[in-house]
Order: sequence, then C-alpha cells, then structure tokens
Amino acid sequence: MITYDHIMVRFGELSTKGKNKKDFINALAINIKNALKEYTDLTFDVRYDHIYIGLNGTDYKPVMDRLTEISGIHALSLVHKCEKDIEVIKEHALELFKLETGKTFKIVTKRSDKAYPLISDQINRLVATHLFKNVPDIKVDVHNPEIELGIEIRAEAAYIFASTVEGAGGYPLGVGGKTMHLLSGGIDSPVAAYLMIKRGIQIECIHYASPPYTQMAVIYKLEDLLKKLNRYQPRIRLHIIPFTKIQEAIYDNAPECYCITIMRRMMYRLAARLAKRRHCPIISSGESLGQVASQTLQSINVINEVTNMPVIRPLACSDKLDIIKISKKIDTYDISIRPYEDCCTIFTPKNPKTQPKLEEVVEYEKKFDYDTLINEALGNIEVKIIDSSGEDLL
Ligand code: ATP
Ligand code: MG
Repeated sequence: MITYDHIMVRFGELSTKGKNKKDFINALAINIKNALKEYTDLTFDVRYDHIYIGLNGTDYKPVMDRLTEISGIHALSLVHKCEKDIEVIKEHALELFKLETGKTFKIVTKRSDKAYPLISDQINRLVATHLFKNVPDIKVDVHNPEIELGIEIRAEAAYIFASTVEGAGGYPLGVGGKTMHLLSGGIDSPVAAYLMIKRGIQIECIHYASPPYTQMAVIYKLEDLLKKLNRYQPRIRLHIIPFTKIQEAIYDNAPECYCITIMRRMMYRLAARLAKRRHCPIISSGESLGQVASQTLQSINVINEVTNMPVIRPLACSDKLDIIKISKKIDTYDISIRPYEDCCTIFTPKNPKTQPKLEEVVEYEKKFDYDTLINEALGNIEVKIIDSSGEDLL
C-alpha cells in the first residue's frame, strides 16, 4: 500500500553556513535521536538541508508531537518516499491524494536535483493531469486549495506530502553555549528558561534558598518544574545556594525599604561568580520590566551595577498574560502556582524602593562583610541534576 513512511524535518532558512551549519545539523540530529530513543524502529537519514526519519511502521502521531518540542526544527512534514521516475511519482501522488479529503487542490513541486529531466512546472502539470483523469469533480485552486500536494525531487529520491506543521523554531540546544539562569518557583523564570533553551542555549539554574524560612517544598517544586523543562533540555544542573545568612545580614544592616534592592544585588554577585566558575558567559532571569518594585528601570540599573556580565531577560517586554500562555503551553503553570514561600516573599518590605539610589545602597552594604558571606555560600552549594529519566543523579 502506498502510504506516508517518513517524517521530513526542515531547518528553515539558516543564517549559518559551512562548518557552523554542520555543527548545527549534528547537534540537532543528536537531540532528535535522544528525544525519540524510545521508538526503536525509527531510522535517521541526516542530510545537508533536511533530516528524514523512517517510520518503519511506527505510529507517526506521537513522534511528530515530540518533534514539535525540539528547538531548531522549522517545520515537519509526513512524507512518502519513492523513486524519481515520473510514472512512479504520478501513481503514488494519486494514491496519496485519495487519502485526503477535499475537491480543490494545488501541486507544488520543488526540484533540488537540477539534473532531473523535467522542470517543476512540467511535473506539476503531469501530476495534475493524472489526478484529473482518475478522480472525479476536482478543481485546481492555486490560492486557497483544500489539498496541497508537495513534491520534492532530490538527488536520492522523490518525496510527496500533503501537510506541513510548524516546528518550535530557534536553534538546536547546545549550539549557543550556556547561561546561568536564576530560577525561582514563580511563573516567569521557568518560561524565561524555556525561551533561552529555544534559542539553542543550554541552561544551568541557580536557586537561592533561605531555610528555615523557605521550605523543602520549594525544592520539590523546582524539581517538578525542571522535569517539565527536561522535554526541551534532557539534563539540567540545579545549584541550590544557601541564602539565609546573607538575607539576615541585609535585614540587620539596611532599612527595610532597601532590602530587596540589596538582596538582588547579592543574588547577581553570587550568580556572576558561579557563572564564571561553570563557564557560562551570561546570566539570565525571568525579570519583566515594571512588574514589581525591583523591576523598575532605576532598580534594574542599581541591581545590575554589581556585575558587567551580560544579563539576558527574555521576558523584559512581555506582558503577564502572554507569559502565562507560554507557561500553560509548556505545562509549568500548574506547578508554578502552587503556593510556596520564596526568599523574596518572606522578607517583602511594605514599601520597597522603586527609585533606589546607588550611593545609599553602597553605604548600607559597607556595614557588613558580604564578601565573606558570599564565599561561604559559594562553598556550600547543593547540586542536583534533573535528568529526563526522572531520576535525581546527584
Ligand atoms: P517569577 O515568577 O519568576 O518568580 P516574579 O515576577 O515573581 O518572577 P521576582 O520574584 O521579582 O519576580 O523575581 C524576578 C526574577 O529573579 C525571577 O524571575 C528569577 O529569575 C529571579 N529570582 C527571584 N527569586 C529567586 C530565587 N529565590 N532564586 C533564584 N532566582 C530568583
Ligand atoms: Mg518570584
């Protein structure tokens, strides 16, 4: 029986060429094979502009669904692979056409095999004529067809397909290097992490924990969040940094309204140090402009002053409803809204400064030896590896 037997993976328009493109494709192929390893009958044909996945009887639906989550894939089509002989193409196109429903159609041929004896337009016409001869009451509609049959003539074979679905886009994970990502238990930071991963950037996460003010439940929550992100990055390192002593020192030495600003400066000092140690050239976070007192431009300026390492804030200009939409899509929303005590929520001052002054902040920070506290915290990090197998491999 003539049927769809492969999935064609397209990369889209890549700005990368030469060796970069090779690295891109290799990384993508590894990520795809890894994500699909439970489907043991699949075969992979990795080429310069597409990857073809042979189904060999595997149900295409779950495979396609999984592929739409992998960054670096522009589009996916369920395709039928056949010989390039025009008679074979006509016959197989007809059989595949019969599987579709609709009366109006269009044939779109692409010919990357320039040695092929027929040009695209001739192939379109020959196939359309064959359909007219064999299927009653059908009509060509070039603008809005119910059925669009694609034919690609390539060096090794011809591929015929009737539908294309959008992929996740972005770049394959691993090609963009690594970021040190600040992960709270809220809605925003997991979404920001996902957007970084989508760009091909691997994440390592930092969480600042303040026991006994914050509970172990927060850590379980983070593990659950990261397990969701494991679909996009199979192995994520989480650094849990003890933050209690630093927070207490801040509250002992600065007025309440300045505590959040100074606390966030400490977070970035720690993050920059750990990022360097872990070979991450950037830091990222879930901050969104204007959401809370610490996210006004003046606050961000004063907070960011502690490091010259770039801080990427993928959600800087997103509004909350859009962020929530993404968190629902990646299934982190329900975990994020579980009630929990965060180190930020516990010490929330009544009137945090929205326009903190750097000179004042610096004066308060001089009152305690935060360097020693930072070194101590960095020496007591707990590391968890969250792996897609669901296990916690310390
Ligand atoms: P989120 O929903 O991600 O918690 P938020 O809107 O609650 O964000 P804040 O609590 O001000 O905003 O935090 C801003 C960002 O700072 C977070 O998105 C996260 O990147 C980082 N952050 C906050 N608290 C922590 C923490 N305890 N550990 C690590 N990072 C944190
Ligand atoms: Mg928060």
